[in-house]
Amino acid sequence: MEQAKTTRIIVLTSLLLVLILTFLCIKKQGSRIITRTEITSISNNSPKLGDRVEVKYMVYSGDADNFTVIVLPDTQHYSEARPEIFIHQTQWIVENIRNLNIIFVTHLGDLVQNNDNVEKEWQVADKAMDLLNDVVPYSILPGNHDMQPGGQAIFYNKYFPASRFEHQIWWGGSFNENKNNYQFFSAGGDDYIIFHLQYCPPRGVIKWVDEILTTYSDRIAIISTHSFIGNENLRISHCKNTSDGDTTGKGLWNGLVKTHPNIFLVLSGHIPGSSRRIDEINGHVVYQLLSDYQDEENGGNGYLRIMTFQPNRDIILVKTYSPTLDKYLTDPDNQFDLPFNMTSGKIPTGSVKVSYGTDVCVGTIEQGGCILTLTTDSINEIIASYSGDSNFKGSVTITYPSTISK
Ligand SMILES: [Zn+2]
Repeated sequence: MEQAKTTRIIVLTSLLLVLILTFLCIKKQGSRIITRTEITSISNNSPKLGDRVEVKYMVYSGDADNFTVIVLPDTQHYSEARPEIFIHQTQWIVENIRNLNIIFVTHLGDLVQNNDNVEKEWQVADKAMDLLNDVVPYSILPGNHDMQPGGQAIFYNKYFPASRFEHQIWWGGSFNENKNNYQFFSAGGDDYIIFHLQYCPPRGVIKWVDEILTTYSDRIAIISTHSFIGNENLRISHCKNTSDGDTTGKGLWNGLVKTHPNIFLVLSGHIPGSSRRIDEINGHVVYQLLSDYQDEENGGNGYLRIMTFQPNRDIILVKTYSPTLDKYLTDPDNQFDLPFNMTSGKIPTGSVKVSYGTDVCVGTIEQGGCILTLTTDSINEIIASYSGDSNFKGSVTITYPSTISK
């Protein structure tokens, strides 16, 4: 009796320890999806040697909260003449971080209309974007209106230098005086990297991105750049002289996007209108979205893009909204879904190995259990361990106290 009691205490203590370690492991892994394996039932509560015992198990994936990326297309006319609309956009973002779970804000360039000619416009852009500082991760890039012919960008450097961002943990790095930069975020069980590339980047930028993407090939990549596709869905094949480079949308596609299978999304502005194209390269889909409302009334009426990633449904919901008008654009060019396979919310595939000492049985996730034939009596624990889907990191083994008699 005494011995059985001691054994039970030891088993319960070790179960508690395993649970604590599992919890710590989940915490440490951050957003990475951890599978949690549980034994839900054992068919025979007082089995004898030679008995067949059915052990049922379940494997869960991590949580699957929706999350949102906000896209701010060309704000040049707000900086020029309607500052309140720009401010309203970022104010609305701040107010909706919680309920939309906004994890990133990406500006597509043309912060201002008159590059280095009118500093007041930069003060507006600075004031509007400043509302996001230390509140939500965001970044910017210079469009053709933000640079002088030849690419000089005095006020861009003054108001949006890398030092504005470098202390943030989500900041990756920058190139060519912060005309190009990258950031990290993690959500829905996946790790992302997002690049912001200047209007018509110099060739060195492609090499720089190429190297970083090779280093972070396990992250899902998004490219925000000023000019990529036009409103007829075609990739842009020309550059104006307001850049120190000449890589067109076509050039970016051929030299960069096509060669990195982890790039799934390219966002651009510059050409008034909204359109999208979808290409499949070696089995991976690349969404290319144009949004730019600068030709609408009041320089765009403050329309921005709300991209809500829904891991449980494996889609991205794209909506176009104006905080100023409190109105959505609901036509099919401005409101649509993109299928996108995310890690969270999935029931993993694979199998579970159940063992009692040297007795082992293996079942699939769908089967939900397997049958052990007991030949050993030396161990007071049943272990269920998951193996399979490589998306699901860190499979967990749970020790289960059983009442198998000796
Ligand atoms: Zn532009």
